[in-house]
Amino acid sequence: MNENDITVNLASTSKIDSVDFENLIFGTVFTDHMLICDYKQGVWEKPVIKPYEPFLIDPSAKVFHYGQAIFEGMKAYKDEHDDVWLFRPDQNFERFNKSAVRLAMPEVPESVFMDGLKKLLQIEKAWVKTGKGNSLYIRPFMIATGPGVVAAPANFYRFMIILSPAKSYYSGEVKVIIAEHYSRAANGGIGAAKAAGNYSAQFYPTKLANEMGYQQIIWTDDATHTKLEEAGTMNVFFRINDTLYTAPTSERILDGVTRKSLIDMAKREGINVEVRSVLVDELIQAAEDGSLKEIFGAGTAAVVNPIVGFSYKEKYYELPKLENPIALQLKEKLNNIQYKLAEDTFGWTV
Ligand code: PMP
Repeated sequence: MNENDITVNLASTSKIDSVDFENLIFGTVFTDHMLICDYKQGVWEKPVIKPYEPFLIDPSAKVFHYGQAIFEGMKAYKDEHDDVWLFRPDQNFERFNKSAVRLAMPEVPESVFMDGLKKLLQIEKAWVKTGKGNSLYIRPFMIATGPGVVAAPANFYRFMIILSPAKSYYSGEVKVIIAEHYSRAANGGIGAAKAAGNYSAQFYPTKLANEMGYQQIIWTDDATHTKLEEAGTMNVFFRINDTLYTAPTSERILDGVTRKSLIDMAKREGINVEVRSVLVDELIQAAEDGSLKEIFGAGTAAVVNPIVGFSYKEKYYELPKLENPIALQLKEKLNNIQYKLAEDTFGWTV
């Protein structure tokens, strides 16, 4: 199958002129079209691109009762020549199918995911705005549409792609709290999958953290709560003296595309990077002796999100304010590749 095998049913009018692109709230505005591809008892049907609209689904669909739902998050960027670029979409495609396998869902064919995405982006090209910070957030997802309140995998699934224009925004100062009780994921669980349930499980502890004045939680390993793992929707880097540390990916940690790209970029810049677990005790020690210089989150949404301080066992530790933090240097370099403002010597852009 290629993109010519996709049925396209265009919207009669576009809502693009009613959108205030200067004041977008992330994830709230969607483009004119969506892609749908249904899976029925072992067979993927032909994908359809059609106007963005609600759809009917049986109340007993397994997605509602047993949470068979997975998703991806990626972005399209426009360069100065009006061309649209994806950043390492192969990585998102692979991760999507790993999530599918873990949730006992069917793997989506590459032709549906990739050709479908490219075709949808061609149609929605006007929604990708030029200029650094502007992007089109891409949300591929799959749900179990098969009916029946029986706790077993469904026979029917729906794969979809929806698109949402995004603007980079300043999220304010990010303070985090280190998890002492709640866990995001456990060995043998679904932490490494981009499964909907991983996110709903974080909402309550994150709400408690918000009430205490922290924007995010840095999750620790579920068994001992002594190793630093990742944040809500970001992998985490710690800079102690001039070395960057980030936890190895595992059954509990999402294999972030930004994380692995930053590791490669930092290494090429001659920055010392160590992929190993950082202990909470080590972090406290480094914060107390002044060797802790930076903490930052890494993910598609913000690329790099600097953290100004963290709390652990009711004590707050503030990070130093640096002139030229590594976090922002790496962010600039990665953004330049994504927006085609610098040569992509890694071959990451498509
Ligand atoms: N960890 C979690 C739990 C996430 O949801 C995300 C966002 N996908 C990340 C890390 C960062 O991954 P990526 O760089 O691929 O966006």
